[in-house]
Amino acid sequence: MTTTRKTAKCPNCLPDQAGAIFYSETVYDEDFRVTGREWVCQNCGHTMPHRTRRQDWTFVTETATSVEQVRSLRNKVAFTYFNPNGAYAVKQATDDKISAAVDAGRCKSGALFVHGSLNDYHERAMRRLSKVKRPARFDVHYMIDGLLEEAARAEEFLAGLEN
Ligand SMILES: [Zn+2]
Repeated sequence: MTTTRKTAKCPNCLPDQAGAIFYSETVYDEDFRVTGREWVCQNCGHTMPHRTRRQDWTFVTETATSVEQVRSLRNKVAFTYFNPNGAYAVKQATDDKISAAVDAGRCKSGALFVHGSLNDYHERAMRRLSKVKRPARFDVHYMIDGLLEEAARAEEFLAGLEN
């Protein structure tokens, strides 16, 4: 059962006693997808997150199998950075294959810059975004798509090698 009403301290209009009435309201992102719920003070409109609805770190970085299961943009960055199913792990796996191909003499070392570990533009974007409190939707998706596209191009390159 979802609680839809509570009385609590409002940090904005009633900080000293738990007498402000809050209603639970649905929160949407800019594409009108439901992202969660928040408490809204009926007196001043101040909003507070539903703490219990926040996705837990272990789910984001270990349990989730797809970035679609992760709600906030910050958590999407964390999923990409740490989760073994994230785009960064996919890119790292192809980086390793390119390094192995160079070591085995199957391609020139320049492949590291074009397809491998030295092609790290989107990895640097990921690290930068991991330090941003409210990353922009465009930046997060651009970074994730970039990692996946680079990994796909590396796989294509590997598949096209002679031996
Ligand atoms: Zn208030």
